[in-house]
Amino acid sequence: MGKEEWPMAATVKPNEDRPMADSMQIVDGGAVLFPGATLPLRATLPGFVTAIERALSGVDVPRYTVAVIQAEEGTQTLSDIGTTAVIRKYRRRVDGSVNVVTRGHQRFHLQQYGLGILDQVTYGQIQIIAEDVPLTAHRISNGFLPHWAYRLNDSHRLAQRAANIWNQKIRVPNMDSLVEKPSLLSVHIAGKIPVSTGTRQRLLDVNDMNRLRMAIELLRNIDHIRCKTCRSTIARQRDILVMSNEGCLGAYVDPQGHVFEIMTVHTVNGLFPFEEYGFNWFPGYTCRNALCGRCGYRVGWHFTTTNEILRPGTFWGLETLQMAEEQIPQMEL
Ligand SMILES: [Zn+2]
Repeated sequence: MGKEEWPMAATVKPNEDRPMADSMQIVDGGAVLFPGATLPLRATLPGFVTAIERALSGVDVPRYTVAVIQAEEGTQTLSDIGTTAVIRKYRRRVDGSVNVVTRGHQRFHLQQYGLGILDQVTYGQIQIIAEDVPLTAHRISNGFLPHWAYRLNDSHRLAQRAANIWNQKIRVPNMDSLVEKPSLLSVHIAGKIPVSTGTRQRLLDVNDMNRLRMAIELLRNIDHIRCKTCRSTIARQRDILVMSNEGCLGAYVDPQGHVFEIMTVHTVNGLFPFEEYGFNWFPGYTCRNALCGRCGYRVGWHFTTTNEILRPGTFWGLETLQMAEEQIPQMEL
């Protein structure tokens, strides 16, 4: 029988001043994880299972914590910046695999990494990034405005602009309650904005204020969603389809343990369904591969149902890893 627990997050002190970085087990998340966001993982490969079991035991490694980072597609190269993830929930399965639900905690710089020959676990030296101290409104109540208070005004103005344009263009999930917390708003928007995995990594790489600026530019300007292989337009941002209160974007795991970040749209341009996929994340629907009509590569899935009660009757899921990186108009970061 499986076992579930909800451990508390352990905060690692930012260590940019210390010469020694922390050693941590590295996991390829398959999607870009932001602090505060949830990412499901399924450990099937022996090295991955070992890493999760060791994190659960806490022997020689930080307990309940792994370092999640995105591998550049088709290479073994890892990105420079990732996010530590706290294991919130886990279930061991009879076939030896482990299902875990993780929650993003702190951004880090990956300094170096290597594969353990005996255990097949990737280890990395990481440095936790010291984020700007969250500023709160009550700190300006003593009558004078020091330098950081102007920054506070700035960040709140940016947050309001980002929330406004989010409400116009995307709407779900609602971000209004986060306007007073610009840092939190920046990671929430970055985790939910319908853009390619490549662009999402760029949103992770920058600090809170620049993340808000980038998000505003993306929301204002990005319309075409393009195939990564041939760059033809495969959908428009206005075609996004909200399937749950999580919005139009979600991370899904298949039985082999692959994590896919899927963006749902009601209309596509030049895609065609091809053969059954063999697995389905949306109960009641049949799932087929969706191929790009121009280059023939698989860019996502097509879902249909014969159940007349289910709405919509048909929709598409685009894999954000197969979407071309969006061009962000020139902006000073
Ligand atoms: Zn294509």
